[in-house]
Amino acid sequence: MTHNGSYWFDSLEAPYAQAAPMPLPAAVDVAIIGGGYTGLWTAHYLNELNPSLKIAVLEAETFGFGASGRNGGWCMGTAHGVDALLAQPESRGAGLTLARAMQATVDEIGQVAKSLGIDCHFKKGGNLTVATQAFQVPQLQAELEHLRELGFSEDDYVWLPAGEAQQRVQMQHNYGALFTPHCAAIHPARLVRGLAASLAARGVDCVALTRVREIKPGLVRTDRGEVRAKTILRATEGYTGTLKGQQRRVLPIYSMMVATEPLPSAVWQQIGLSNRETFGDPRRVVIYGQRTQDNRLAFGGRAGYFYGSKIKQTIALKDPGPQAVAATLRQLFPILNDYQITHGWGGPLGVNRHWRPCVSFDAKTGIGAAGGYVGEGVAASNLAARMLSDLVLNRATEITQLPWVNDHARGWEIEPFRYIGAKTLQYCAERADADEARLGKPAGLWASLFDAVVD
Ligand SMILES: Cc1cc2nc3c(=O)[nH]c(=O)nc-3n(C[C@H](O)[C@H](O)[C@H](O)COP(=O)(O)OP(=O)(O)OC[C@H]3O[C@@H](n4cnc5c(N)ncnc54)[C@H](O)[C@@H]3O)c2cc1C
Repeated sequence: MTHNGSYWFDSLEAPYAQAAPMPLPAAVDVAIIGGGYTGLWTAHYLNELNPSLKIAVLEAETFGFGASGRNGGWCMGTAHGVDALLAQPESRGAGLTLARAMQATVDEIGQVAKSLGIDCHFKKGGNLTVATQAFQVPQLQAELEHLRELGFSEDDYVWLPAGEAQQRVQMQHNYGALFTPHCAAIHPARLVRGLAASLAARGVDCVALTRVREIKPGLVRTDRGEVRAKTILRATEGYTGTLKGQQRRVLPIYSMMVATEPLPSAVWQQIGLSNRETFGDPRRVVIYGQRTQDNRLAFGGRAGYFYGSKIKQTIALKDPGPQAVAATLRQLFPILNDYQITHGWGGPLGVNRHWRPCVSFDAKTGIGAAGGYVGEGVAASNLAARMLSDLVLNRATEITQLPWVNDHARGWEIEPFRYIGAKTLQYCAERADADEARLGKPAGLWASLFDAVVD
């Protein structure tokens, strides 16, 4: 299995398939499990900081097969859990430092990609959270006020009144939007594939088609043999449960996407997004969209969880998830009823039990990990990779003082409780969104239940 089913993989210029995996190294200094952004950025920074390290990145399928090669391409200057830190007086200071570090990470990714010659269609056009219902206007304005109180300026967040917001994006309903410049649209697969190619050119062993079965201090056991390594770093996100002994560590939640055919300029004149702004709205079942560099609309939404943390390697356009996302897209932009949706896919993202990322390293065992981005890992994985590299090299830096470091979560519940919990949460979110859409006012009970768990 090498194609992940996404439009992004379909549009890669170079063939994504690898004829045969390279030989497995017998011993390395650092073995990284997982060839997505987390694994590859970690290899990148370790190689930069200490070029003499022998590093191998071991990937079960092909580089970018997972979420990194399928996502919505929102390279966003925030991360899941930052809001919760900002909300509490005792964690506000750390939350602000983390928020600023995330904002800077968007530029870091743009600059490093450029310096490595990776054309990942990076365009920092910002992000619009559109009030698609009138009652969301005061809610988003209150959020803006809260952000101002925290010290974020007009360079970070502004309110766009309806007229201005509609010029940015003409949706079926647009009552105004909260805008932040701290977000770039990217072609996610070009970034992840470019990183792998750049690392291979620098002498990092990028070994595809090699599934790791088990990690022990000093040893990685794969389906092709063993690799000895002083340092072993797990970067397997939503797939973590496939490793021996890790079944309860990360919850794989699915997100689904679709992409339209390239749309004519007359359509874009109506829709807008002339600066390739990314966009969504405040609903709980998160939606996200971007105008691609080749003028398609790529759009996604969170979907759900499969019993037993089952991983579906690919999802097809005809499957219920992408079909539901396509219907939402057409509701938001009725003009798209006249145009084809050519691609539909989905994939697992990773959620830690405490709903925030964790970056950990145990110098005694030499084992570390990073992930649990709750579907917001395009930029966060870069910051996490820098933290992990600093921890491995025993560098006490500003970022190793940030909240994610060694912030371990307990394991998820066993089945069927995990399934019941995940499905209940999904039900609350869907019910709250549906009630709000129907009644045009904030949902009560379902929303409170959902917010209480997720926040
Ligand atoms: C549909 C979708 C849309 C998303 N949209 C956005 C977005 O717009 N913005 C945003 O910020 N985030 C988004 N996300 C989340 C984001 O893509 C992820 O947080 C991020 O890519 C995580 O990177 P990663 O390297 O940690 O994990 P992954 O990219 O999932 O990489 C893990 C890799 O490990 C490999 N692997 C697994 N098990 C093994 C094993 N046993 N041995 C060897 N290799 C193994 C997998 O094949 C995979 O390639 C989205 C996710 C999905 C699924």
